[in-house]
Amino acid sequence: MNGQRLRLMGLMPAQIAEALALKPFQGRQIFQWIHQKGVFDFDAMTNLSKPMRERLKAECTVQDMRVVSVQVSEGSSATKILFELEDGERVESVLLRDGGRVTLCLSSQAGCPLNCSFCATGMAGFRRNLDAGEIAGQALLLLSAGEVPRELTPNVVYMGMGEPFLNYEHMVESIRLLMHPEGLNVGARHITVSTVGVVEGVSRFAAEDWQVRLSISLHAANDELRSKLVPHNRSNGLRQLRDALRDYGAKTGRQVTVEWTLLDDVNDGPGDVRELLAFLKGLKVFVNLIPWNPVPGLPFNASSRAKCVAFQEGLEQGGVKATLRRENGGDIAAACGQLRAMHEPAELE
Ligand code: SAH
Repeated sequence: MNGQRLRLMGLMPAQIAEALALKPFQGRQIFQWIHQKGVFDFDAMTNLSKPMRERLKAECTVQDMRVVSVQVSEGSSATKILFELEDGERVESVLLRDGGRVTLCLSSQAGCPLNCSFCATGMAGFRRNLDAGEIAGQALLLLSAGEVPRELTPNVVYMGMGEPFLNYEHMVESIRLLMHPEGLNVGARHITVSTVGVVEGVSRFAAEDWQVRLSISLHAANDELRSKLVPHNRSNGLRQLRDALRDYGAKTGRQVTVEWTLLDDVNDGPGDVRELLAFLKGLKVFVNLIPWNPVPGLPFNASSRAKCVAFQEGLEQGGVKATLRRENGGDIAAACGQLRAMHEPAELE
């Protein structure tokens, strides 16, 4: 609610109808305007009666996120939006263009409690979980800001701020909104959720009745190093994570992506390749190598291109497929590693 107004972003068609005591088809019409056509102005919802539009204007708001800034990278390959939420919290999301393909990178929390040592988001601490409307709303606002044609179906990655598996229900609800056939209708296989590897979340995700993709941010394959880079590993170690991934594979048959942010002389050597190969043995995975996006003030350096390539080759020689993306939109992503983590895994299968 925004003051006395009902916020429609985040509600399914049936929930809109119920909240406003409308017929089910009217709930669907309103949902279609917002999610399928990207129309947020009640006056423009021309198949609704005039009195209905007046009522919606008086009682509802479509969404309550304010766009604070829009940055477009050189060559327009990336557009980053900074949003202010109703309570003043701020989150970022990014639209990435690659050929004819559009990928939306969404935030699931304002701030992040994980505090990974190389990531900018954790530095500012955790603020709060986003609700489903605040997550799905980012996608709609990104598409409008980027003037993406409505017939183009985007890919969506949960690789912005926050840990989606620590905001599990809202993450699931937001995916249902994005997948809704009367909304954006994004195919499950075009959606990827990236997690630090909260094992409980991995098990829950395995039980979801969908084909949404899972990506695990590993970054180190020995507990000592991983606990330094990813403090969450201290309570939820590699052995547990590996078991959870093995069960996930057995249950779903789906391939998992493993993300590995390359940090110079920290996790980018031949020994690291060997440890990673040992960890991955028997798992159905491919690896997404992410060149570290420098964050001022943090004690790391990006690995050289040659080391990144050698790491990739080492994995391939060990029988594991790996992608290494070239920089994309780096000029606007100074404090956000997510851009480099984005890609469409489907091409690898
Ligand atoms: N909490 C989720 C989403 C994080 S962002 C997760 O841990 O997966 C998506 C990816 O970007 C993660 O793999 C994260 O470790 C990585 N990342 C964060 N900061 C980065 C940076 N500065 N450079 C490169 N990758 C970064």
